[in-house]
Amino acid sequence: MSTYLIKGVRPLGGEPADILVEDGRIAAVGDSLDATGAEVVEAAGLIALPGLVDLHTHLREPGREDAETVETGSRAAALGGFTAVHAMANTDPVADTAGVVEQVWRLGQEAGLVDVVPVGAVTVGLGGERLAELGAMADSAARVRVFSDDGHCVADPALMRRALEYVKAFDGVVAQHAEEPRLTAGAQMHEGDRSARLGLTGWSAAAEEAIIARDVLLAEHVGARLHVCHVSTAGSVEILRWAKSRGVRVTAEVTPHHLLLTDACAESYDPVFKVNPPLRTDADVEALRAGLADGTIDAVGTDHAPHAVEDKESEWAQARPGMLGLEQALSVVIETMVEPGRLDWAGVADRMSVRPAAIGRLDGHGRPIAPGEPANLVLVDAAARAVVDPAALASRSRNSPYAGRELPGRVVATFLRGTPTVLDGKAVK
Ligand SMILES: [Zn+2]
Repeated sequence: MSTYLIKGVRPLGGEPADILVEDGRIAAVGDSLDATGAEVVEAAGLIALPGLVDLHTHLREPGREDAETVETGSRAAALGGFTAVHAMANTDPVADTAGVVEQVWRLGQEAGLVDVVPVGAVTVGLGGERLAELGAMADSAARVRVFSDDGHCVADPALMRRALEYVKAFDGVVAQHAEEPRLTAGAQMHEGDRSARLGLTGWSAAAEEAIIARDVLLAEHVGARLHVCHVSTAGSVEILRWAKSRGVRVTAEVTPHHLLLTDACAESYDPVFKVNPPLRTDADVEALRAGLADGTIDAVGTDHAPHAVEDKESEWAQARPGMLGLEQALSVVIETMVEPGRLDWAGVADRMSVRPAAIGRLDGHGRPIAPGEPANLVLVDAAARAVVDPAALASRSRNSPYAGRELPGRVVATFLRGTPTVLDGKAVK
């Protein structure tokens, strides 16, 4: 294994230092380190963060390898600065048994670009009727700790309570896609003035908030951990703030697209902007940024959702919901949180690495940049700006909502346990 000397980088945006990476770990951090024989990475002006961790990635394998594979999604993740991603369970077959989660975990190991951490389904086949084999998935080689029916809500409150009770036994967490299905039948976009004007069926904020309110009460009653996926409304942030003030064991994530885009995008009728939960209003975006800044929202989760062209480039009503996210997540956070002064680099490390790693109970990720720690690192050129070109993405799909948009920040290098997965902004393999 090679030794790397990263010269003149700014850990967490602080004073410049050298970082010596040896045997997969950070061997030293200091001024003018000398390491004979080490490969030198000139990093003056770059910022070093712990490798990013995503709680919410759709890798589509097994089942829809035409949209993404574990390998192509892993490469997209590495290029986005990630060293670990949680792979959602809504594959085909669904990841609801030890066998399927172990298959996904093994594919991730083979790709070797990020740690692929399988999420287990809460219910058999995401059907919302019977609990899946949660214990068997937890005990498997994949050591599943996060369980989610994402794409679907665990709508039955009795089943949700049982799932919370079950995962508590092994310190797992239920990650809820909060959507009361009785309130979103046929929904196409955020319910408000615009949906009325555009003649599209609305997805009300209340449909999300009602489930979050119910679930924080259940989590409090059971004493188990609840995680709320892709929070999208101001009211949800208020409920989470209230729940945390009561000591409920709840965490939450927000997507990059909900931090940047609004339902105004739907006026184009371009289905690339169709997503679930939908893009909301300016006031919601402001509340989400404030919630992420003050820590009410713990993490950024990409909800990276690749779709094949035929599933996305159609009439709005027929298009699948979902957007790519891995490769631009950090750029969007820089644009919406860092440049406006709402989050410093330590804050970015906290929301995109430390807290998501803690929520997923991952060892070796979200660690300080300090001697002895695993060398999971990303080096970022925060000043660089570039226009997003979907054709240049590593993802197998092209449904980026940022196409043609100029965004700040470029991932220059990513290290996974001391091995570069990205160098000079390009994937190593
Ligand atoms: Zn979801």
